[in-house]
Amino acid sequence: TMEFTDRVSRVEPSATLAISALATELEAEGADIVDLSVGEPDFPTPENIVEAGKDAMDAGHTGYTTSAGILELREAIADKLAADGLEHDSDEIIVTPGAKQALYEVVQSLVEDGDEVVLLDPAWVSYEAMVKMAGGDLTRVDLSETDFQLEPALDDLAAAVSDETELLVVNSPSNPTGAVYSDAALEGVRDLAVEHDITVISDEIYKEITYGVEPTSLGTLEGMADRTVTVNGFSKAYSMTGWRLGYFAGPEDLIDQAGKLHSHSVSSAVNFVQHAGLEALETEQAVTEMVAAFEERRDLVVDLLAEHDVDVAVPEGAFYMMVPVDDNEARSASDASGDEPRADDQAWCEGAIEDAHVATVPGSAFGTPGYARISYAASEERLEEGIERLAEEGYL
Ligand code: PLP
Repeated sequence: TMEFTDRVSRVEPSATLAISALATELEAEGADIVDLSVGEPDFPTPENIVEAGKDAMDAGHTGYTTSAGILELREAIADKLAADGLEHDSDEIIVTPGAKQALYEVVQSLVEDGDEVVLLDPAWVSYEAMVKMAGGDLTRVDLSETDFQLEPALDDLAAAVSDETELLVVNSPSNPTGAVYSDAALEGVRDLAVEHDITVISDEIYKEITYGVEPTSLGTLEGMADRTVTVNGFSKAYSMTGWRLGYFAGPEDLIDQAGKLHSHSVSSAVNFVQHAGLEALETEQAVTEMVAAFEERRDLVVDLLAEHDVDVAVPEGAFYMMVPVDDNEARSASDASGDEPRADDQAWCEGAIEDAHVATVPGSAFGTPGYARISYAASEERLEEGIERLAEEGYL
């Protein structure tokens, strides 16, 4: 029989899986599911990017590339980062099959058994799994008491970090909250990172999707250039989730180490996809239109929820929001049936999909019970339908 490593045994399959499985099952039975659980834009990849991908295939860009990615793309990424105030040569950038792989390589390169890693909760589901697989120990700072903002919780962060802290992960705009951290918050992070010599991953995958705010890149702050790893990708801004294209930029010694992992695992990102990525970086109009649509939908959902007396922390970026489900009656009913209190949001989400046929993700998947994450990357019609059904079934 096979014996499995601690490494993989330590992690659980994604908690969102249960909801998708339930959605698929109900759909197979003919149910019309309003799916507000997805983590991807509901827009197609812009046509010029698709064409660039096809052209690249026709032109024979179908072989291996240099492991770190084609030079033209790394140079274009360096230009994009420079426009954000981040100075990186093309050899300080590795192009990966998705930002997820970038994060995985960085965590594997920095974290080993017993290393302390700090997350800001709620946090995207895979950070925890990646850190656990690397053997790291997690310290989690809860932002749910401060409307998911970091600035008023800086004291909590200060209490959570120490000279033992190896790594801090910052994700602004945030999945799942949509929060964009203020400059003062980032300066607070900088002060702590410098004081305790902490490396920080700045996951900026939603940076291009914001509503009236310009998020600062953490690596631009004084003292942060040599301790920040900036991660970004093409999935969200350009609706390219299935293409698998992302990157990270950081100090050269990290790039050298992570580059080994990269070359021995994925070799490189897909050749013609990298060429499509070049075109994506030239694409502005489609992104602007998509972001404008998301902003309208955000406003719509915030208003509809307010009509049902549900107040949310209004997101300033990404396309998610956290809906408090703690004091909900449908949830209380499931409490009475004997569910664990900390699983309230799971009961709410399971009930919401079974009764209202609306799929959402429990906050506990992100380390923050008592909330459900909804994605508003869905048409206004479906969003209205979803909220209406939740209200009708007593979930709001
Ligand atoms: N980081 C965050 C916060 C995300 O939400 C996601 C995707 O859901 C990723 C990284 C990974 O994106 P990808 O691997 O598609 O580039």
